Amino acid sequence: MVTSRELGKTHLPLWAAGFVALICVTILGMSAWREWEARNSELRNAEIDVANLAHSLIQHADDTFELADTILVGLVHRLELDGLGPDTIAKLQTYLPTRKSSDRIRGIFVYDATGRWLATTEHVDFSGLNNSDREYFQQHRASPDKGTLIGRPVKSRSGGQWIITASRRINHPDGSFAGVALLTIDVTYFSNFYERFDLGPNGSASLLNNAGILLARTGDKSDAFVGRDLSNTPLFRDRGSRPEAAVYYFKSPLDGVQRLSYYQRSSRYPLMVLASKSQDDVLTPWRRAAGARMVFVLGLVLLIAVIGFYLVRQLLERQRTAQVLVAKEANFRLLAEQSSDMVTRIGLDNRLLYVSPSCVRITGWSADELLDTSALAGIHPDDVERVEQAIAALKNGEAEEARFIYRQRHRDKGEIWAEAALHVTLASDSGEIDGVVAVMRDMTEQKDLQDKLASLATTDGLTGLANRRAFDERLADEWARARRDGTQLSLLLIDVDHFKKFNDHYGHLAGDACLRALGRILSATARRPADLAARYGGEEFAVLLANTGPDGCAEVGEGIRQALHDLAMLHAQNPPSRLVTVSVGAATSLPSQAPDSNTLVAAADRALYAAKDSGRDRLVMSGQVVPWPAKSA
Ligand code: GH3
Ligand code: MG
Ligand code: MG
Repeated sequence: MVTSRELGKTHLPLWAAGFVALICVTILGMSAWREWEARNSELRNAEIDVANLAHSLIQHADDTFELADTILVGLVHRLELDGLGPDTIAKLQTYLPTRKSSDRIRGIFVYDATGRWLATTEHVDFSGLNNSDREYFQQHRASPDKGTLIGRPVKSRSGGQWIITASRRINHPDGSFAGVALLTIDVTYFSNFYERFDLGPNGSASLLNNAGILLARTGDKSDAFVGRDLSNTPLFRDRGSRPEAAVYYFKSPLDGVQRLSYYQRSSRYPLMVLASKSQDDVLTPWRRAAGARMVFVLGLVLLIAVIGFYLVRQLLERQRTAQVLVAKEANFRLLAEQSSDMVTRIGLDNRLLYVSPSCVRITGWSADELLDTSALAGIHPDDVERVEQAIAALKNGEAEEARFIYRQRHRDKGEIWAEAALHVTLASDSGEIDGVVAVMRDMTEQKDLQDKLASLATTDGLTGLANRRAFDERLADEWARARRDGTQLSLLLIDVDHFKKFNDHYGHLAGDACLRALGRILSATARRPADLAARYGGEEFAVLLANTGPDGCAEVGEGIRQALHDLAMLHAQNPPSRLVTVSVGAATSLPSQAPDSNTLVAAADRALYAAKDSGRDRLVMSGQVVPWPAKSA
């Protein structure tokens, strides 16, 4: 069972991708959270601003109406004491204009019970004017309430501008309705005052009465909104459940702008101020800065994501490569380990870095025992040098491949013949030679067979002597050597006498036995390493004697002839001895002075003929004059 880890597959790329994603999400999340906090902080600061402003404005309104109240209370008190007779009114008419000292008070008016103007601060002809149609007048006439009434804004009859009215009822001594004292304040007085505060391009400050009627508002130059009834807005609808002062977010019903505001009700008068800023105005600087910061953060996140992407891709790529490598490794290991050949990897110091399991079969030692030992350790001393040279040539880069057969020690079998094929290995990074791979197989059986075949090719099957081919090769070698050395080379050609008759008489098998017996004599004779006894053909034999002169040669030939005599094999058809005999032709040559080896063979052959012709069972030396034999019976 192969696990994914073994194949080089890990979850590392997945983890890396997750990590990068986590970093990106964290940076984005933290930035967004920080921006949200910054936004809320901006809004909170703005809330504090508008709250402070609302406190100031309500104080201003209270002060203004308190002044109006004071004037009205004083005026009404006097009129109620003095009555509304012509004298009093005439005095009042001279006194009133002096009361209009501040710019807050627009005008002061006194009306009788029918609404007719009695006195005013204004310099107008009011003889025909009547204000009984005004709402405040009707309210005072209808109600005995003596308190000051702040009315809704109206267009001034005297000046035509928007004014806010504060009025009180004047009673006759009996408590019946005697008229109304009225004080007016210009709406612009408030709006001009409100203009002094910086509320941003779309901010506003408003003064409203408790009924939801707008009394004054900043930026309201054309008086478009004055007198507008806002009682239907949430601020007034849920009035009961609202505190006296609070932050209030709303979309203005007047100009549609989303606002953050602070409203505060007066504790003394039925009034309320609403100071507000446009949410857009408040947040615009933050939006700009946050946008710039976000662009930077997004750029950073994008950079991290891109780097992360390439990193993960690189990791995946490496993993794929590693997987391929591992699979390849597994294949090659399988090949090496299942092969009947022994595969080894040899380092530059000739130590074994890897040995495949088949080493047990080939050398008798296990891979663990061989690892880290010298690769040359089990090699036969006679072969070590050759192997060392081959390996050195590989390492020097002189050869890419080497093949040789050598003897290798086997733990149990003693020695085997092994064939090795060696190749250099190159380091994957530098391309330098970093070792050698050797593949070895047991060649013992092949070697034996080969040796056997080689000897079969050069040996005569019947006698075990060298065959004609081996003789020819050896003759050429020895001829060349003798020619080089300036030594003599001798040849004996030996032929069994009347052998045809022997076969005929004793049978072919006996003939073979006879030839084997002669073979034994010849191999016992040619004992020197350079001597060679060969079956030349049929019942003809040859003995090559290196570095031997005519005397030595004749001596060896005579020895052979004599040894055969000593065996005393019967040959009835071979008179006079009636034993198996041979004729021997001998020749000696000095190859350095002769044209070629054929002359030696021809001379020996001629000598052999001479031996036959002169009576058989003798040795004739080439060049020796042999007497013609007397005809024997
Ligand atoms: P000479 O004395 O003139 O040499 O007479 P010879 O009969 O030996 O001469 P020849 O060369 O005519 O005859 C050689 C015989 O040797 C012929 C052949 O039957 C016999 N012969 C050759 N090879 C073998 C062999 O391997 N085994 C046996 N049994 N006989 C062989
Ligand atoms: Mg013959
Ligand atoms: Mg013969």
